[in-house]
Amino acid sequence: MAKRDYYVVLEVNQNASDTEIKKAYRKLALKCHPDKNPGDKRAEERFKELSEAYAVLSDGQKRALYDQYGHAGVDQQGGFSSGGFGGTPFEDIFGDIFGDIFGSGGGGGRRGGGRRGDDLRYNLTITFEDAAFGLETKIQVPRHQPCETCKGSGAKPGTSPETCQTCSGNGQVRFQQGFFSLTRTCPDCNGEGKRINDPCKDCRGTGLIRGQKTLSLKIPPGVESGNRLKMSGEGEPGSKGAPPGDLYIVITVKIHTIFHREGNDLICEIPISFPQAAMGCELEAPTLEGKVKLKVPAGTQSGKIFKLAGKGIPVLQGYGRGDELIIVRVETPTSLTSRQKELLEEFAKEAGEDIHPMGKSFFDKVKELFD
Ligand SMILES: [Zn+2]
Ligand SMILES: [Zn+2]
Repeated sequence: MAKRDYYVVLEVNQNASDTEIKKAYRKLALKCHPDKNPGDKRAEERFKELSEAYAVLSDGQKRALYDQYGHAGVDQQGGFSSGGFGGTPFEDIFGDIFGDIFGSGGGGGRRGGGRRGDDLRYNLTITFEDAAFGLETKIQVPRHQPCETCKGSGAKPGTSPETCQTCSGNGQVRFQQGFFSLTRTCPDCNGEGKRINDPCKDCRGTGLIRGQKTLSLKIPPGVESGNRLKMSGEGEPGSKGAPPGDLYIVITVKIHTIFHREGNDLICEIPISFPQAAMGCELEAPTLEGKVKLKVPAGTQSGKIFKLAGKGIPVLQGYGRGDELIIVRVETPTSLTSRQKELLEEFAKEAGEDIHPMGKSFFDKVKELFD
């Protein structure tokens, strides 16, 4: 099976930051971790794929090689065996993952403070036309909101969280390992420094309830599938006054029945008949804004491209538009009646080499080669 693009695997953009890559990996790996999916072969495969992608994209040098040469650039370095992730510190990653499970989060430096909210991803599918010209719409984003009953504290109204005895409110405990004195997240309060003895019933002590937020969204003209729009601060709320995460809108553009896109150019193939091509004709050519007349001159060959300047896709966050390129394809007639055959045979007798100069020149060259 062909390897998937590492950015696709991690569901991030090509220019995602290291933090975004790490975050994406942690989120996805957590979902497919073999411990959470015992016996599920597909989850296991996905987990391996994720680990491999992360091992490359989290390493600046390997990522640069991958960006330049693709899989070939990094596979030569010995490949990956299951378990050995090309030198990525395994514990590091999992330290973070389990940190997330237990709510202390990775990254450190949050002792006693709140934790920034998670980033959210929202997949939005739009039409080809909306991608070209932009769109204003409203979306409903499922996300957590502070619990109104306890005002987000997680403690039953009338009570308040108490300082954790185990860590004296530090959120971390010290332990001895050989000569070293190390600290780790307090297991009793998950690093929060406080404990809730009497949790709020509505949010079960989390301080958050699931809800939906309606957001107005403005998609600029010229977006493509895979483009992401960031809405700062519209992700999950942070805990204890920490800032919320961000919301990423990931765009998928529907395939159009007659147009496709190359860069900012719009491509449309129009079939024409042999008589139309030979004698010339006037076509009604579709554009994104209605039909325009297109003159096809007599003697037009199949594959000829006509350019409608400025009728393409607007440049994303820029000025101007691409062109529309109309490719005419001469359609060979099928299932002829006997009368039609008769006419064509008569035509063929009448038509000599003179009206088919390309064919004549080609077979002259063949002759030179072999005779
Ligand atoms: Zn509550
Ligand atoms: Zn504690």
